[in-house]
Amino acid sequence: MVYRITFLGTGGGRHTTMYQTRCTGGMLFEHGDPVHYLHIDPGPGALTQMKNIRYDLGKTESLIISHAHPDHYSDAPSVIEGMTRGGWIKRGSIFGSPTVLDGEGGLGPCLSPYHINLPEHRQTFRPGNVLDVDGMKVDICSARHSDPTNVGFRFNTPYGVVSYVSDTEYDDDIGEQYIGSRVLILPVTTPHNNKIRWHMCTDTAIEMVDLVKPELCIFIHMGIVMLKHDPAKQAKMCEDATGVKTLAGEDLMVLDIAEELKLSKAQTFNDRLWAPKWAPDMPEASKK
Ligand SMILES: [Zn+2]
Repeated sequence: MVYRITFLGTGGGRHTTMYQTRCTGGMLFEHGDPVHYLHIDPGPGALTQMKNIRYDLGKTESLIISHAHPDHYSDAPSVIEGMTRGGWIKRGSIFGSPTVLDGEGGLGPCLSPYHINLPEHRQTFRPGNVLDVDGMKVDICSARHSDPTNVGFRFNTPYGVVSYVSDTEYDDDIGEQYIGSRVLILPVTTPHNNKIRWHMCTDTAIEMVDLVKPELCIFIHMGIVMLKHDPAKQAKMCEDATGVKTLAGEDLMVLDIAEELKLSKAQTFNDRLWAPKWAPDMPEASKK
């Protein structure tokens, strides 16, 4: 049984995204027995990072896109093409907010009808919904963001709840939804008390972590100002204020969730020609 999250990108916000100060590729979540492969919020950098760790996109079975901002969805069409083996096999599931899949209030849809219809299953979500993602129960929580249909997620594993709080402004009603989480993956866009609308800063992160009291908190979705002001120090401020182990995420960091939480770094490869066996090659007969 495997519960492993690989952080394909720990940046967020428009400037980090446009300059790729950090990658913004979301997360790969391997879960269950047999293991299932879920991609969450594949923003820019997702494909490059999967290539760097030799991840075969053909293994992906489900894709979740929290909302209609490019740092959460822009690599999704190619992830869907990987999931459906180049678009030839109808398989897999796509879960998205109404803005992502249908378009709502002037936002989205973020994917072409062609790509939305490639997977076998598609489902929109709203706060309060419970998803079955390849056997894993996922609770949908509300968020307060400039895409009003954005949500957060509680992934229920046999080793406790792992929550991914997608972009939101903070208030206690947002935090209360995550009480009971063992791991809190938190988008902390700005440092100190630099509150920007619709997002969290270190000060609001401290309020939330103090309320939820997880075993581990990981900062992600770090904006360019956060990155210029020592994210590790910001995380340490949160740890000192709350007593909760808090880390600033790093690109290609791996979190294993079991009896113990274990952090490591994904193995990387430098081989531009690598592709999985199902990718096209010359027919044997034509090879000389
Ligand atoms: Zn956003």
